[in-house]
Amino acid sequence: AAVPSFEFTALPYRVLFGVGTAARVAGEVGRLGRSRVLLLASGEIAELGDRVAAELGPLCVGRFDGAAMHTPVDVTEKAMAILEETRADVVVAVGGGSTTGLAKALAVRTGVDQIILPTTYAGSEVTPVLGETVDGRKQTRSDLAVLPETVIYDVELSRRLPVPMAVTSGVNALAHAVEALYSPQANPVVDGWATDAITHLGRGIRRVPGAPADLGVRADLLRGAWLAGTCLGSVGMGLHHKLCHVLGGSFGLPHAATHTVVLAHVIAYNAPAAAAAMDAVAAALGVPDAATGVFALVVDSGAPRSLRGLGMREADLDEAADLVVATPYPNPRPIDRPAVLGLLRAAWAGEEPA
Ligand code: NAD
Repeated sequence: AAVPSFEFTALPYRVLFGVGTAARVAGEVGRLGRSRVLLLASGEIAELGDRVAAELGPLCVGRFDGAAMHTPVDVTEKAMAILEETRADVVVAVGGGSTTGLAKALAVRTGVDQIILPTTYAGSEVTPVLGETVDGRKQTRSDLAVLPETVIYDVELSRRLPVPMAVTSGVNALAHAVEALYSPQANPVVDGWATDAITHLGRGIRRVPGAPADLGVRADLLRGAWLAGTCLGSVGMGLHHKLCHVLGGSFGLPHAATHTVVLAHVIAYNAPAAAAAMDAVAAALGVPDAATGVFALVVDSGAPRSLRGLGMREADLDEAADLVVATPYPNPRPIDRPAVLGLLRAAWAGEEPA
């Protein structure tokens, strides 16, 4: 058998995982040697922010609840002004990928430490990647200064994420793990995280509609989100992440729901060129075939299945295909424009992947 060849660099972050771990936030501020917290939360989940503020007590010297999707630079500038005014030395972010994005944007500008308490399954909290929008254009950079120092996963905090978002956010995480398995940087450590993530995410996504408040179900999803996020932070992604970046960045489609519609179609596209990875996905999900298994998971969980349903115009599919093939990137099956357009048409119509 061929001897594998790989490189692997571990990401330096600390994780606390459990039920009620948010109560340990003040201790984690002290562990970093910090004492002045700027708290970030999003407006919709202000009560979760209030809970963390109560744990922080006098350590909390400022608060900003204005984080927005895709980290617009004008929002970052408002938060920067508060950071400077309050002389905060650590940001504590409670929320999804958008709130984490704001914390990262502050850290990369000032070197301030970050403690993240995730409330969705996006996985951004364990990656060194920051996407920011300037004048409506999304730019991405990767820099270890972006990676948060500490992540506190509290299953209790994630319990409130409504079922439709829990499902789409869970499939967003699943996509990180699936693409990690056929990444050019794939290695045994990441493969192990990816398959564990897929098993726990699959179980959580199937069970969350019927048992949204069950801590075991939420723990499966959050554990899967952590490991899938670590996959995303550790190895390069392929066609799926490119497609979702184009659909979200250029056509304004919602992040997690777009991942949910597209994933089964990308699996079908790549399956002929990545048989071992797809077998691992199917085995981890406990289904006979990865593409039809992921499609059934999405449909059975009541999640959106078509780009049309997310507001994509049929007339824009051609331009989306152009953007997806404009620059080269690694993918197991070569990126072929007619085939990508076919994939987009099937995803737009909500057909079962061929
Ligand atoms: P989000 O953070 O935008 O949250 C979506 C909505 O859900 C918001 O209105 C938020 O207030 C609400 N919400 C969050 N948690 C909730 C809860 N527990 N209960 C009720 N409502 C809740 O969405 P997201 O999908 O987590 O993140 C998407 C963003 O993150 C995108 O901008 C994406 O590009 C970015 N992202 C970045 C990375 C990275 O590595 N850089 C990885 C994944 C996602």
